Amino acid sequence: MTTAPTEQITDVSVLRAGRWEDGQTDRWADVFNPSTGQVIARVPLCTPAQVDAVVAAAARAQTAWGNTSVVERARVMFRLRQLVERDFEALSRLITREHGKTLAESRAEVQRGLEMVEFACGIPSLIMGQTLANIATDVDAEAVKHPVGVCVGITPYNFPHMVPMWMFPVALVCGNAFILKPSEKVPLSAVRLGELVMEAGVPDGVFNVVHGDKACVDALLNHPQTSAVSFVGSTPVAQAIFETATGAGKRVQAAGGAKNHLIVMPDADLDLAVKALAASAYGCGGQRCMAGSVAVAVGSAADPLVSGLCDHAAGMKVGPTDGAENVDMGPLIRREHVHRVAGYLDVAGEDGAAVVLDGRQSSGGDGFLLGPCVVDRVETNMRVWREEIFGPVLSVVRASGLDAALAVGEQCDYGNGASIFTRSGHAARQFKQNFNAGMIGINVGVPAPMAWFPFTGWNRSFFGDLHIQGTESIAFYTRQKVTLTRWFRDANESAADPVWASGAKKS
Ligand code: NAD
Repeated sequence: MTTAPTEQITDVSVLRAGRWEDGQTDRWADVFNPSTGQVIARVPLCTPAQVDAVVAAAARAQTAWGNTSVVERARVMFRLRQLVERDFEALSRLITREHGKTLAESRAEVQRGLEMVEFACGIPSLIMGQTLANIATDVDAEAVKHPVGVCVGITPYNFPHMVPMWMFPVALVCGNAFILKPSEKVPLSAVRLGELVMEAGVPDGVFNVVHGDKACVDALLNHPQTSAVSFVGSTPVAQAIFETATGAGKRVQAAGGAKNHLIVMPDADLDLAVKALAASAYGCGGQRCMAGSVAVAVGSAADPLVSGLCDHAAGMKVGPTDGAENVDMGPLIRREHVHRVAGYLDVAGEDGAAVVLDGRQSSGGDGFLLGPCVVDRVETNMRVWREEIFGPVLSVVRASGLDAALAVGEQCDYGNGASIFTRSGHAARQFKQNFNAGMIGINVGVPAPMAWFPFTGWNRSFFGDLHIQGTESIAFYTRQKVTLTRWFRDANESAADPVWASGAKKS
């Protein structure tokens, strides 16, 4: 095996008030290329003092931006759209370099992010208010959407480009300033996005990037000048962020972890189901909040499904992805994560499940590799079913019928996605109506909604009420102001005569 050339290590910068500055801290974290195992950058873990300076810059810039015409704010997004298209391939390669997913997966990620920008381009229509003429005699009412102020986005490692794009395009076109705190494991895509946002013409201070861990996040959550917090990450952190930030008086949307079920009925097209389940479970190395992590094999579907999955997954090409096409599955984010995920295979065996495909055989080399794994005969009292593994491990639960499959979902703490594979309209409808999750697929492996629909996690997969994406995100990033106007009929009419008091006689 040839050793990869040594990477040049760069220091990641902070974007404040339109300028890139050094991290003012003595705490730094390494950023890796998971394909080679090498350190490629150092990211500052910013102090509350630097966070304070960034929030102050954002607050200063927000007022003028909020008063900029909505059409001009939309035009900035049209320009950003062009820049992302221009740099599409380079952005995709950067994601692969710092995250490890395949180039095809990175291109899909950039495409999903682009769709959020396209959604945001429609802001003049999306942000329109409501009016009601003659709500009382000579009185009209109007409700207008205003920005909320300085918004914060805290994002996970698994979509370094797309998840920031879930947030800031909408926050910005609604007239807010935005501070992005990307995962310290993948800060490079966030920095590149900052450069593109500046190039698109967003005024200095309206978009900012800080880096760090809990200390940095806590400073953002508790800062008196931040108004709204969007978070995507694991459930324990989502819950903590929701509790801290709502306690500090902010509005919060916090998307958490998941355990997504893929039900395969005996009448399913087995070939289609096997391919869809493998793509869902092993895409991005299983590091997706919409990854299918539990196959529920109903009745006679079980044996052929398990053998089909093992054959298919064993044939997948696992390897380094940086600069490589034709790889089916890339490395995981860190070596410790490989050990954590692989540890679940031992736990599954101890709990009485059967490890029928062991991906540790595909590990090796300098990158953080682990091949696809299948664990059969999993029960709902086992850790592999209860806990989010977030790696290429597909658990198979065997169920006697659709009702038993629905009952599996009822026991699940999470509630992101679930899919059914069947030819029966009745089974599909029963499943759609009754499965305990917010995003449903019918013969679809990853039922992730696109930009125009909300990302509707349920249960402990989401804390808050207004979800990310779609018109719920417009509601999240705006607050309404209602104005009542009384139009005098003639100069002698008195403003001291409230319409409400006289409403009965006049209307
Ligand atoms: P994570 O929770 O470890 O980190 C997410 C963000 O929170 C990062 O920016 C991190 O720096 C910060 N953070 C971590 N610990 C913190 C703490 N104690 N206090 C304050 N901030 C903290 O998540 P991750 O490992 O980066 O990402 C994977 C997780 O994200 C998985 O659980 C996955 O299911 C979830 N995810 C969910 C969705 C969704 O839409 N529901 C989408 C993508 C990822």
